[in-house]
Amino acid sequence: MTAPTATGATRGAARRLGRQLLAWVDSSSAAKTDDVVAADARGIDWPRLVPFFAIHAGCLALPFVGASAVAVWTCVALYALRMFAVTAFYHRYFAHRAFATSRAAQFAFAVLGAASAQRGPLWWASHHRHHHVHSDQPADVHSALRHGWLWSHMGWFMARENFAPRHALIGGFARFPELRFLDRWDSLVPLALAGGLYAFGAWAEGHAPQLGTTGAQMLAWGFCVSTVALYHATFCINSMAHRYGSRRYATRDASRNNLWLALVTFGEGWHNNHHHYPAAARQGFYWWEVDFSWYGLKLLQALGIVWDLKPVPAAVRHAGRDGAPAATPTIDAAAPPEGRPEGTR
Ligand SMILES: [Zn+2]
Ligand SMILES: [Zn+2]
Repeated sequence: MTAPTATGATRGAARRLGRQLLAWVDSSSAAKTDDVVAADARGIDWPRLVPFFAIHAGCLALPFVGASAVAVWTCVALYALRMFAVTAFYHRYFAHRAFATSRAAQFAFAVLGAASAQRGPLWWASHHRHHHVHSDQPADVHSALRHGWLWSHMGWFMARENFAPRHALIGGFARFPELRFLDRWDSLVPLALAGGLYAFGAWAEGHAPQLGTTGAQMLAWGFCVSTVALYHATFCINSMAHRYGSRRYATRDASRNNLWLALVTFGEGWHNNHHHYPAAARQGFYWWEVDFSWYGLKLLQALGIVWDLKPVPAAVRHAGRDGAPAATPTIDAAAPPEGRPEGTR
């Protein structure tokens, strides 16, 4: 009677493998945050992270695939484009509603943000709103002060407890079916990008040999290197921007302003400014505080693609410094109450 048992075990293993493969692309197939058993909440779901580590491993292919101008510039361009989508849209728009845009542009930039392989816009924005509500308190899931550097950098999003979006904090954006679709199938966008880059490189190898590229080279530079750089620059805001830099405002968290982080993250390094007044579309509060995402938003505004960029009121800029009254509480601006209209007009 061993045959049925062996067959049953094989079927069980196949079902588990199927579920795992599905979880790589279908976010809804994994356990919801509320369902995770407390004892296992901080456990890391290693099989689900195989694609994340595979993208890192892809960088090791560089010595074997060589380099070309088209591959390196694609890497740089995709870093810049996706960093802008993450900082200007995932962060300033979806998490903080710092400006308004059309439904089409909202979706287009959500797709670009998803191409960064940092999950969907609702997941990203809802966890970020949670960070503003609980900054550097025990409940802050990625506080470097509370939970250590590595956990704040990349441990927190690997944990089962943070896999699902924080539904209570998503806000009105959840009413858009296209955003819910993108959030559920978020992996499809980076998969399509990786496939497109490989296909272009393979085509160029035969049809445009003067470019000196191949499918593997475009995949390694354009997707793997670019995405890994984008990952760790973004993660550094959580792991570094509450530890290293200066504090202009006496916020109730440990956020800091850091020029180097601001340069690589297109303005997000002005993190103390941001915690002081999260509602603003700009994070560099003065002209010398370099904020590339703000410049990009000004350009999109001139083109009529975004509007109502929220400024930093002079009173807010001066509050909490030089003996002026303390900073305005940040929770209201960071996490609007449910039911308050948000999103497109
Ligand atoms: Zn922060
Ligand atoms: Zn924020």
